[in-house]
Amino acid sequence: MPKKDATQPKKNDLLVIAGAGGFIAGALVRYFHDRGFTRIRGVDKKPLHDWYQRVPGVECLSLDLREEANCRRACEDAVEVYNLAADMGGMGFIERFRVECLRSILINTHMIESAYRAGVRRYFFSSSACAYNTTLQQDPNVRALQESDAYPAMAERGYGWEKLMSEMFCEEYWAERGLATFIARFHNVYGPYGTWDGGREKAPAALCRKVVEAKDTGAGAIQIWGDGRQTRSFMYIDDCIHGIDLIMHCEDLIATPLNLGSSELVSINQLVDLVEEIGGVRLRREYLPDAPRGVAGRNSDNTMIKRVLGWEPSTPLRQGMKSTYAWIEQQYRDRQAGKRVVRDTI
Ligand code: NAD
Repeated sequence: MPKKDATQPKKNDLLVIAGAGGFIAGALVRYFHDRGFTRIRGVDKKPLHDWYQRVPGVECLSLDLREEANCRRACEDAVEVYNLAADMGGMGFIERFRVECLRSILINTHMIESAYRAGVRRYFFSSSACAYNTTLQQDPNVRALQESDAYPAMAERGYGWEKLMSEMFCEEYWAERGLATFIARFHNVYGPYGTWDGGREKAPAALCRKVVEAKDTGAGAIQIWGDGRQTRSFMYIDDCIHGIDLIMHCEDLIATPLNLGSSELVSINQLVDLVEEIGGVRLRREYLPDAPRGVAGRNSDNTMIKRVLGWEPSTPLRQGMKSTYAWIEQQYRDRQAGKRVVRDTI
């Protein structure tokens, strides 16, 4: 059993979850709600009708958290704050909109100060594997990244540097001011209720959509960014949510960045094989060498999370992709039928 400290919030403590109109924070809201927490406040800059999930009984605020006054409002009376708000997307987004990614530094800067002033007990920040030194990720047969591999720093331009800098805020708020902060470096997260169209989607969702679309239109072909040999690991949403809870409530992990990712490494070609198999179709592959594709290889070294928590993300890719594919197929049909679906734009 994973090790959990006796640091759990009470069921009526106020939990504030930023980015709640999006994928991961939306799932986190549902998770705490389903565990009986009665005071949850979700915050996101999107108008409420665009939130991916709305959970009954949860307070929802539509606020732009780059504004300090809005962060103060968001953190009022909070016991725990989870900051998952960021302007982000897949490689197609983060390679093209570096300024927007960098500007997410405003969100964490104001949120952590507001959380500190509100006297919150715990503060969580969602960092990313993009914070790691990119020079260690130039081969598809990568050595999995350990937590110490972020320094000397050479993070992903824009998005990765913002994450690294925000991590440092978390570390120093603990060191200088005694705010208990928790930092997870997520490695590609996928699953139902993730963005699947519109320009911010990541590879697993994009490939499911392309296969569904090819079947629907009879196109017979699929476009793949890069040469398909780049490798990654992909973590199912349920593992990510469970991991956030474990990390946030473990005293040994205060101000300590930790990998939260799967260690099941696959190439994009293998991921396409899998999605084709799930969809029951074989497609001709058209490779786009000039499309954004990120580093050549990236995997999560889970030695530390296993040592500290006695747990690691373990949903097999095949299992997670089956439910993701089924959900995206349904979304695709719903959209054709003119129903409202999960969508974000760039
Ligand atoms: P997402 O885009 O679905 O959710 C992020 C949410 O933040 C969006 O709903 C967006 O509207 C909101 N947001 C953006 N700017 C805001 C602002 N100024 N004020 C208030 N809300 C704002 O993305 P996600 O996949 O759920 O990612 C959540 C967090 O996890 C982000 O910090 C992201 O960088 C991090 N992360 C995600 C992955 C992944 O694979 N999904 C990997 C590494 C790190």
